[in-house]
Amino acid sequence: MNLVEKFLKYVSFETTSYEVKEDRASSDLEYLLSEEMKKELEELGGQDIYINKFGTVYAYFPGEIEREPLALIAHMDTSSQASGKDVKPRIIKNYDGKDIELSKGIVMSTKDFPSLKDVKGDDLIVTDGKTLLGGDDKAGIAIIMQALENIIKSNKKHIPLEVIFTTDEEIGVGASHIDVDRLKSKYGYTVDGGDIKNINYENFNASSMTVTVKGRSIHPGSAKDKMINALNVAIDFHNSLPRYMRPEDTELREGFYHLLSLNGSEDEAKALYIIRDHDFNKLEFMEDYAKLAAKRINDSYGSEIIKVETKLSYKNMKEIIDKHYEIVEQIVSIYKELGYEYQFEAVRGGTDGAELTVFNNFPCPNLGTGDFNCHGRFEYVSINQMEKGVNIIKKLIQ
Ligand SMILES: [Zn+2]
Repeated sequence: MNLVEKFLKYVSFETTSYEVKEDRASSDLEYLLSEEMKKELEELGGQDIYINKFGTVYAYFPGEIEREPLALIAHMDTSSQASGKDVKPRIIKNYDGKDIELSKGIVMSTKDFPSLKDVKGDDLIVTDGKTLLGGDDKAGIAIIMQALENIIKSNKKHIPLEVIFTTDEEIGVGASHIDVDRLKSKYGYTVDGGDIKNINYENFNASSMTVTVKGRSIHPGSAKDKMINALNVAIDFHNSLPRYMRPEDTELREGFYHLLSLNGSEDEAKALYIIRDHDFNKLEFMEDYAKLAAKRINDSYGSEIIKVETKLSYKNMKEIIDKHYEIVEQIVSIYKELGYEYQFEAVRGGTDGAELTVFNNFPCPNLGTGDFNCHGRFEYVSINQMEKGVNIIKKLIQ
């Protein structure tokens, strides 16, 4: 199998992850790809191969070059934001830079998806516009597997390597499904999504925020000065948050409050938010601001009817990576050596690597794969960029 054949095979597996399960992968279907990857890693001569209870696949390649071992990590599951069942990939050779009709009436336009301009002339793999592609992160898996195969089959020497393919990354528990205590390496890279020129070692600090409102239900006919409609209070609270700090209004290093859900009745209401910022102090300020808004509302009613609780979900890995900056420099020098353009992009989300970095003190920046518009029906990959990914990984492990 060449790189494209590998990719097409991996995306034929339906590996959508849903809700976190205590001691299993979120979907039984995820294990099927785990088994496939285990088999392929065995064929490449991997050692100590296992699939743990979560479906995470591990393989060790001892290597002949005496150097510190390195972990390469990618995730096998796909986002539930779009279907990952019966993906029908289509290859477009030498893309002409124009709008792409994915199937009848479904057009991916350069106006809506300006990243298409950057891949003019490349060979692309697109969807039929009805499912996601799964390039996030099966492009990462294909890149790692192809790089390994090239090195091993041509009998080239390589450094000691640990390959880890995780499940349930998209629901936030990919990294916690890795048996970090059993790893031989002290650092690694995730190979997961985005333009191949991206090197990521910054990500959001993230909190979840739960807002509960206890109302006072009174017959609407005689409600004057007595009724407290919990839904209205929740909406008042929501409107007290900065209007232009929403995901749809922010980019780059701008943080946001994102309302995930608002449910309830006049009696009781509950709103769930996520709060994000690259700067931890600002994240804390945003939490305090929301709590102050709730306090003002409570003051105005003279009792505690609204409660705001926040919980830290993950942190920016930058602080720790900065202390091990040689692992960023190592990658930069490879890009330079290969003559590839690179940029540092601050991830507007978390990564498996961020969790490993912050909570396991296992520095783990992320490398791009050539996957675009992830999590949706307009996802596509550039084969040319994936090929660059293979070259980068090969240099890294040789
Ligand atoms: Zn991903």
